[in-house]
Amino acid sequence: MNILNNGRFGLGAGAAGAMKELLRLTAQHANTRKQFGKLIREFGLVKEKFGKIAVRAYAMEAMAYLTTALIDGGRKDCQAEAAICKIYGSESLWLSVNDCLQVMGGAGYMRSYPFERQMRDSRILLIFEGTNEILRLFIALSGIQGPAEHLKALAPALKSPLKHKDDLIAELQRRAARLYAPPQFEGVHSRLSSSSAKFSRLVASFGAAVDGAVAKYQKNIMGEQLVLKRIADITIDLYGMAAVLSRATKTLSAEGEESAAAEHEALLAEAFCAEAAVRVNENVAGLNSPKKTTDGAIGKIADTVLDAGKYVAKHPLGF
Ligand SMILES: Cc1cc2nc3c(=O)[nH]c(=O)nc-3n(C[C@H](O)[C@H](O)[C@H](O)COP(=O)(O)OP(=O)(O)OC[C@H]3O[C@@H](n4cnc5c(N)ncnc54)[C@H](O)[C@@H]3O)c2cc1C
Repeated sequence: MNILNNGRFGLGAGAAGAMKELLRLTAQHANTRKQFGKLIREFGLVKEKFGKIAVRAYAMEAMAYLTTALIDGGRKDCQAEAAICKIYGSESLWLSVNDCLQVMGGAGYMRSYPFERQMRDSRILLIFEGTNEILRLFIALSGIQGPAEHLKALAPALKSPLKHKDDLIAELQRRAARLYAPPQFEGVHSRLSSSSAKFSRLVASFGAAVDGAVAKYQKNIMGEQLVLKRIADITIDLYGMAAVLSRATKTLSAEGEESAAAEHEALLAEAFCAEAAVRVNENVAGLNSPKKTTDGAIGKIADTVLDAGKYVAKHPLGF
C-alpha cells in the first residue's frame, strides 16, 4: 500500500509537470500561428484554454507541495491525500491535453507533433495505480469513518433523548456552531479573504451534508456509489482550495501584494476557488436532496441500456 501511495502521489506531481510542458509547447504555436489576420492567441476561445490549464497546473502543484509538507512533517497516513493527487492530476492532465491538441488544430492530430502521443500516454493515468473510480470510493469511505463513529456514539441519545439530554444538547450546539460560526482559517493573506471565507462556508456545509448522508444511509452508504462520488469530489476540491490558498498566501507574504508575480498567483488561487466552489455547492446540494438530481434517472436509463445490451430509443423516422 505504501508503494502505491508513493506512486499515486508521484503521478499527480508528474501530471503537473506534464501540464507545464504542454503549456510551453502550445504557447509556441499560439504565439506564432495566424488566422483571420490575427495571432490565434488573441482569440478568447484560445486564451481561455491557456488560463484554465494554468489554474489546473497551479492547483496540482500546490496539492503536491501540501502533501509533501504533510509527509515531511511526520504524518504517517497520507493515503487519502495521495489518492486526491492521483485523481486530480490525471483528470486535469487529460482535460489539458485535449485543450492543447485543440489549440494545435489539425497539426495536433499528426504524429509529427507530440500531442497525439501525449494524449495516448496520459489516458492510462486514470486507470492504473488504482482506477479513479476505486480511489473515489476509497477517499469517501475513509473520510466518513469519523462521522459514522460519531453517529454510532450518539445512537443511545437519539433512542432515549430524555435520558441522554446533555449529549443531545451538546450535539445540537456543535451543529449550530458549525452552521452559524464556520471554521476560520488563520494566516490566509488578506488579498484572498473572500476565497478564504468561501472555503470556510463550504467546509461547514460539507460537514453538515456528510452527517446527513451518514444518518440517512447508515451501513448502506457503502453501496451508494454516486453519494460516495459526491463526497470524494467535494473532498478533492476542498483539499485543492486549502492548497492554493496556502501557496498563494506564501507568495503574497514573501513578494508583497504589489508584485506582479504575487498578483498572478492570487488570480490563479481565486480562479481555482471560484470554480471549485461551484462544483462543491452542486455536490452538497446533490447530497442534501438526491431526488432533485438526475442520479435516479441516469441509473434507470443505464439499466435499460445494459438489459438490452444496446442503445434503446424509438427511431424518429419509425424504422
Ligand atoms: C499500460 C499499463 C500498465 C500497467 N502497469 C501495471 C503495473 O505496473 N502493476 C500492476 O499491478 N498493474 C498494472 N497495470 C494494471 C492496472 O493497474 C489495471 O489495469 C487497473 O488496476 C484496472 O484493473 P482492470 O484492468 O482489471 O480493470 P477492472 O478492475 O476490470 O475495471 C474495469 C472498470 O470497472 C470499474 N470498477 C471495477 N470495480 C469497481 C467497483 N467496485 N466500483 C466501481 N467501479 C468499479 C473500474 O474503475 C474500471 O472503470 C497496468 C495496466 C496498463 C494498461
